[in-house]
Amino acid sequence: MIKKLILILNFGSSSLKFSIINSNNNYKIITGLCEYFKKNNYIIKWKINNSIYKIKKKKEEILKFIFIEIILKNKIISDKLYSIGHRIVHGGELFSNSVIINNKIINSIKKFISFAPLHNIEHLIGIYNSFKFFPDLFKKNVAVFDTAFHQSIPKKSFLYALPYNLYKKYKIRRYGAHGISHKFVTFETSKFLNIKIKNLNIITCHLGNGCSIAAIKNGKCIDTSMGLTPLEGLIMGTRCGDIDPSIIFYLYNYLGIKIKKINEILNKESGLLGLSEISNDCRNIEKNYKNNSQFKLAIDVFCYKLSKYIGSYSILMYDHLDAIVFTGGIGENSVLIRKLTINSLNFLGFKIDNKLNEKINYIKYGIITKSKSRISLVIPSNEEIIIAKDTNNLIN
Ligand code: ADP
Repeated sequence: MIKKLILILNFGSSSLKFSIINSNNNYKIITGLCEYFKKNNYIIKWKINNSIYKIKKKKEEILKFIFIEIILKNKIISDKLYSIGHRIVHGGELFSNSVIINNKIINSIKKFISFAPLHNIEHLIGIYNSFKFFPDLFKKNVAVFDTAFHQSIPKKSFLYALPYNLYKKYKIRRYGAHGISHKFVTFETSKFLNIKIKNLNIITCHLGNGCSIAAIKNGKCIDTSMGLTPLEGLIMGTRCGDIDPSIIFYLYNYLGIKIKKINEILNKESGLLGLSEISNDCRNIEKNYKNNSQFKLAIDVFCYKLSKYIGSYSILMYDHLDAIVFTGGIGENSVLIRKLTINSLNFLGFKIDNKLNEKINYIKYGIITKSKSRISLVIPSNEEIIIAKDTNNLIN
């Protein structure tokens, strides 16, 4: 029997996506999502072929249930499983490629917990449980780092203008995130536009609950908006993006707000939620853009910031810019955000095609600008494909 199935584990800050992928054709046999419900209860939803299931579980029961009930008891699947791919959010400067997990790699992932506390701890729990429940696959677990694709960023871009010692001694610098998604859309754009990766100059916008943008020159990332942590850069669902760091001292010294609460404000109460005062759900805000001035403001500030980043990244391309690419829940679905952003880039030669921009929400993939415009397109993100590909390459 040829073993060809890969289990993919993708922990977000508040959710777990899992899937079983056939490495021969990238077909997803199982896709699943586990999200917080209430009072330590989580809902696991999963789809096998075309059947959909769901169940409520306590946090500590989640992985056991997924591994035993959904995977190991399904002999057709578990007999063909030959490796496990783990998305790891922070690998610091140590990894520009994916690696097979061993004790040394585990220690490195531990080392970067302080840079991605919400993520790296969950990744380690995922790895230890994979070892426990799939002992035969012990040496077949692969770490695929979100920071790896951004390791090509030059020093002039990743350094903060802080005392240099903070970089030398503590590695405080910009690392970026969403690298797996930016890498995926870079490869897909290369295929779509029929331009070799080594000649491809694009700006990729990953807009979901977390938002980041990357400047890709000759197929390599040369700048990205997220920093030491995923808080820097664009406006996001609940994260503030770039702010004057002195705001933190003001909140602390003059308003007496505790550090823990300030952290919560910047990460959980800002962004689209903070500006709209009601919601971080872009669907909801977009629907009410015309009749609610606060919602309008939230989207206008979001798009203004995004276009400023695109404008500044376009000068990094020197000789040519092949495309601006939108991906992520907002990038793939928000007709309004794509339109407002592209409209403010007329000066750079981008002209939205309103019909294509609306149609793309149904066909999901393709160009949204006029034929005489520079190109902007939508490519749905699929991080699992990159994780499966790297896992397959390393294990084989
Ligand atoms: P995550 O970063 O958690 O993976 P997603 O990529 O799923 O997030 O994106 C979630 C965002 O996408 C939410 O703000 C949601 O409102 C937005 N979104 C999803 N569908 C639509 C839609 N049809 N129109 C506008 N925004 C949408």
